[in-house]
Amino acid sequence: MGVWHRAYTIIGIRIPRDKMFITEEKRQCSCDVPTNTPWCPTCGGRMWMDEERPIDLYDIDGCVFAGFDAVTLDDNDCIYVGEYYKTDEDDYEESLEIEVVERLRASLRKRLVPLGFWNEDEFKIWCVFVVS
Ligand SMILES: [Zn+2]
Repeated sequence: MGVWHRAYTIIGIRIPRDKMFITEEKRQCSCDVPTNTPWCPTCGGRMWMDEERPIDLYDIDGCVFAGFDAVTLDDNDCIYVGEYYKTDEDDYEESLEIEVVERLRASLRKRLVPLGFWNEDEFKIWCVFVVS
């Protein structure tokens, strides 16, 4: 048993989690019965339940949104989209030229504006520290 630390630097924008998911009613059993009742008369289970799934642009397993890194943290209502750097090394240091940040901003803006996800005020260098 131990303590696990990880620091993330995310250059990009923060998007509310609820914009990245949709909720759909999903059939709960496959019995061959009419589906207009709340409970299945054959198996007794619920007929329908709301299920949340990520929108098509968001590959939650690959941690990618619209071709960019997508980082989410437990208990956080936002997803950070852009490019991220992480380390759990001691005494770690890395520097980035400002041109790299500006290129990323332009690239993110170009991709996310047509999709309706760009928010200039949210473009920042986010520093997140996780302890578990
Ligand atoms: Zn059933």
